Amino acid sequence: MALTGECFCGEIQYRIEGTVKDARSCHCSRCRKAFSSQASSYALVEAGQFTWSQGEHLLSSYETHPGFGLQFCSLCGSTLCGTHNGAVHGVTLGCLNGNPNVEIGYHIYVASKAAWEVIPQGVTTYNEGAE
Ligand SMILES: [Zn+2]
Ligand SMILES: [Zn+2]
Repeated sequence: MALTGECFCGEIQYRIEGTVKDARSCHCSRCRKAFSSQASSYALVEAGQFTWSQGEHLLSSYETHPGFGLQFCSLCGSTLCGTHNGAVHGVTLGCLNGNPNVEIGYHIYVASKAAWEVIPQGVTTYNEGAE
């Protein structure tokens, strides 16, 4: 099964030959800013399974810490993926199309969550990282 994803304006599209794994949500203050949301929603892709199918030239990149970055649409601002040493390392769940058959498995850095966020009952949480 292949997955597809795209940004809000649809100019940038990608394809994943396979599935995504290790879906997680990080509630730290950095992720709130980077994902313009209460938390990140992110899953890893297998090396070699990810390809840009349209609009790669419209991507902008931002290095979050040495070797790691985020790539987003320079037209509409959707954050599409995370990179490690220049290669796509994972995707934001919000930009996946349809039902990717993945669920967020755990929530990290909930001790740093925004004051206004309510964490749902019954989800797996960690005050800091999961390791
Ligand atoms: Zn866009
Ligand atoms: Zn975070």
